[in-house]
Amino acid sequence: MLKTGEIRTAEICGYDADGRGVCRLDGMVAFVRGAIDGETVEVRVDKVGKQQAYVSLVRVIGASVHRIMPDCPTDEKCGGCALRHMDYEEELRFKAQRVRDALVRLGGVTIEAVPILGAEQQDRYRNKAIFPVGTVGGKPDAGFFRAGSHELIAVSSCRLQSETADAVRGAVVAWMRAFGIRAYDEKTRKGLVRRVFVRTADGTGQALACLVVNGKSVPHTAELIAAVREAAPQVSTLVLNENTAPGNVVLSGEFTTLYGDGAITDTLCGLRFRLSPRSFYQVNREQAQRLYALAAERAALTKDDTLLDLYCGTGTITLVMAQHVREAIGVEIIPEAVRDAEANARENGIQNARFFCADAGTAAQKLAKEGLRPTVMVVDPPRKGVGEDVIAAAETMQPDRIVYVSCDSGTLGRDVKRLAAVGYRLVSADAVDLFPRTPHVETVVLLSRK
Ligand code: SAH
Repeated sequence: MLKTGEIRTAEICGYDADGRGVCRLDGMVAFVRGAIDGETVEVRVDKVGKQQAYVSLVRVIGASVHRIMPDCPTDEKCGGCALRHMDYEEELRFKAQRVRDALVRLGGVTIEAVPILGAEQQDRYRNKAIFPVGTVGGKPDAGFFRAGSHELIAVSSCRLQSETADAVRGAVVAWMRAFGIRAYDEKTRKGLVRRVFVRTADGTGQALACLVVNGKSVPHTAELIAAVREAAPQVSTLVLNENTAPGNVVLSGEFTTLYGDGAITDTLCGLRFRLSPRSFYQVNREQAQRLYALAAERAALTKDDTLLDLYCGTGTITLVMAQHVREAIGVEIIPEAVRDAEANARENGIQNARFFCADAGTAAQKLAKEGLRPTVMVVDPPRKGVGEDVIAAAETMQPDRIVYVSCDSGTLGRDVKRLAAVGYRLVSADAVDLFPRTPHVETVVLLSRK
């Protein structure tokens, strides 16, 4: 019988979806953060559940050839990177295997292996940073939350973020200290500054900085603008987000522009995209371009095609694909993103694209009733996958091809099965790594009508 506090030796035989090593202890399953497939490790039993034991890594007895020293001083505390202890080759193997397993186990398809497109740049690839602000040792600071908690860890540099993001964070912290501006406290809900949000446009060199505050304004605005611009000259606009809501939602409530025009423009796949703070934009531009190119290639578009792009954000996929089809229709739920998408179509001289601001399922059902029969449907939903009504709309509209772009292989597997039930079979699946050093991965799946 397994007891709490006990030290046990375990053999790691695979990974869970978060990249933790899987082992068995007295018939119970346990997941070990920081352990690699094939390793023999010593673990401490922290808690014994019904079927699962909760353990932590004590030491590695037999190390994998893929083990490397994490090259970040805050790796053990921070919840950001989960895979810095393994080389990139092993990380890609884990991700490709995970996508394949989800498609086979949950999707019910038969495939041998899923190819994965790795990233050339594995550090500083993120174009969006969100730093929580808090008080550390009596002083305002910004950094990251400790893994699985809301305890603030101050960091001076993050290996995934841009240098611009690091510089803005540093400038805001210095400005808060200089003028005695208090950090927001989640418990008391007092204090002003909650988050520092930075988005960089690597194609144009512009950057947007946003201060999320528990209030309507901040004092010493001129000094804030000067400090941010001096530390990060790329910052072309600075905005305030008034977020007085409890909870974890980063951006909510009104935006006020303190400097610049409140949005930035990036180039992607040869097009220009205007990005508001709330608009979705893939965090890894290099790999996003490869993802969209692959999605377009798999869709095998022609000038006879009508495209319906559900969950279209600022119209990235819609507009990249619009150039190759007769007509493209995008659906997105966030009004600012739809306004950006429409502006992006105009800015790029694309006249065969239109956008609807609505829930994807509701809009798809409505368009189906109105007689729309797209030949190609693209879906790129958030992690929870597509709704039943999207599946029902696919059944009514019967597009020849469905390209499913997914950031969660679990819901992708589930949806592939639901689409099989309405007549679609899997033609291809490719993983693209947009998130090196973290367990996340994107997948492009092509389905066609049986
Ligand atoms: N295809 C875009 C965006 C993908 S992210 C790109 O690659 O850039 C998913 C998008 O779905 C987000 O923009 C989000 O705002 C939107 N979304 C979330 N729930 C939705 C829903 N129920 N209906 C329509 N869009 C939704």
